[in-house]
Amino acid sequence: MDGRVPITGVKELQSRIEGKVTTATDAGYEQIRCEMSWNQLTPMRYPQLVVQVATEQDVVEVVRFARTHGMKIAVRGGGHSWVGFSLRDESLLIDLGRLNRVSIDYEARVAAIQPAVTGRELNSQLAPHGLAFPVGHCPSVPLSGYLLNGGLGLNCNSWGPACFSIEAANVVTADGSIVVANQEQHADLLWAIRGAGPGFFAVVTQYFLKLYQAPRAITTSTYYYPLHRIEEVAAWAGSVARQLPREVELKIFFAPVPAALAKQCGPSNGFVGILSATAFLDTAQEATATLGLLENCPVAHECLQKEVNQPTPLAALQDMGGMLLPERHRYLADTLWSDSPPAQLLATARDYFLHAPSPKSLAACAFSTGVEGRAAVLPDAAFSMTAGTLLLCYAIWERPEDDAVNAAWHRETIAALDSFAVGHYVGESDIVAEPARAERSFARTNWQRLQSLRRTYDPDALFHGFFSA
Ligand SMILES: Cc1cc2nc3c(=O)[nH]c(=O)nc-3n(C[C@H](O)[C@H](O)[C@H](O)COP(=O)(O)OP(=O)(O)OC[C@H]3O[C@@H](n4cnc5c(N)ncnc54)[C@H](O)[C@@H]3O)c2cc1C
Repeated sequence: MDGRVPITGVKELQSRIEGKVTTATDAGYEQIRCEMSWNQLTPMRYPQLVVQVATEQDVVEVVRFARTHGMKIAVRGGGHSWVGFSLRDESLLIDLGRLNRVSIDYEARVAAIQPAVTGRELNSQLAPHGLAFPVGHCPSVPLSGYLLNGGLGLNCNSWGPACFSIEAANVVTADGSIVVANQEQHADLLWAIRGAGPGFFAVVTQYFLKLYQAPRAITTSTYYYPLHRIEEVAAWAGSVARQLPREVELKIFFAPVPAALAKQCGPSNGFVGILSATAFLDTAQEATATLGLLENCPVAHECLQKEVNQPTPLAALQDMGGMLLPERHRYLADTLWSDSPPAQLLATARDYFLHAPSPKSLAACAFSTGVEGRAAVLPDAAFSMTAGTLLLCYAIWERPEDDAVNAAWHRETIAALDSFAVGHYVGESDIVAEPARAERSFARTNWQRLQSLRRTYDPDALFHGFFSA
């Protein structure tokens, strides 16, 4: 393949599908290419063809076309991959962004969703029925790739990574057929869908999701601390995390300091430490009693401001997440799972945030809560990496002229944190700059099984996989 598709072939494909085909030489190509990435730091990788499919049958046609014409396939769900994973050179990009239907069986508590449905769209339909799904922390996150990655969403310690709530999926495989993957048929495909992330080797066109009773009194307490107190706060949070029930999400953020607190923060480069706990419980009394533990932090008297026992329904929690990760910005993101003492981990991150070039950047450290932690509740699936804490580190800025300085800072910060890592999260790690992070997002045997399934289901490597290390 020389990078060009014969015009006749493109015309024939367009005539066979309801969606839209755009070639690299078409007038609107660059705009469509950029729209494929939510992150405004759009990668300089250029598909030969972009096909915005309108139906599942379109996907079948496009897969068969790619096979006939010797093209490699890349897939886009909703384009939220931080690294713009779906944009690949030498590829035919299947964009699933128009597949956004939802159908809910409230009795059976199952939702059938097409890939581009967002967490907000799903939960807004479920909320009036007292139901919920463990969607991502920001409203716009599409379920497509989020579910494939594992899905570390709301109430994750209790509901588990969202991929374990996938009961079945419709999949278009590399030979161009549609199969159903569930526990009875193609169980190995379901195993892979639950966590393979961008290493998946087919196209999921529909998910069938198990729904949950929505907790009736979701409540959040938030404490703002100066960064120089972060060691004490982190050490204490690490020591109590296991005492908290799994229904509590416990986090420490480094986030832009609210204007009202700026003076009290001391030398902080515009950042403040935020200790936040959300209880996904059914009564306000239970939630208040549980969150009361946060008053026991040994430096609680040094907290700059607190907002305790705030009612925070799922939509409000997502709005809060959306404010921390704003739209139309440029991002670099990376993650690490760690079992190191949280005080050391966060003190190291703090030292870098004190020199962050962008005041919008963000770190979030999520603690595993509950006596057993996450590992004990993981069923067998591709998703297989967890630890006591998950640290997420984002450089966030707006102007292209600030790319270099933010990239250098993010690279140095991540390099300093790397020694604390036992693994990574495939959905939010920089698996393009550091391809080895893909393998380190899985337990060893799970990674090997994933490679073996790829060879079975896609023997001709029709689908682009992970970048090579
Ligand atoms: C603002 C923001 C907040 C986020 N919050 C969270 C969070 O709370 N928890 C969390 O776990 N993650 C979170 N993420 C990360 C998110 O899970 C990933 O970005 C995920 O890839 C988003 O799904 P997508 O469909 O938009 O991915 P895309 O960018 O469209 O796809 C990425 C890759 O996934 C694969 N893929 C996606 N869909 C399919 C499919 N249907 N079939 C086959 N392959 C597919 C393809 O290889 C594709 O190239 C967040 C991301 C952003 C930008």
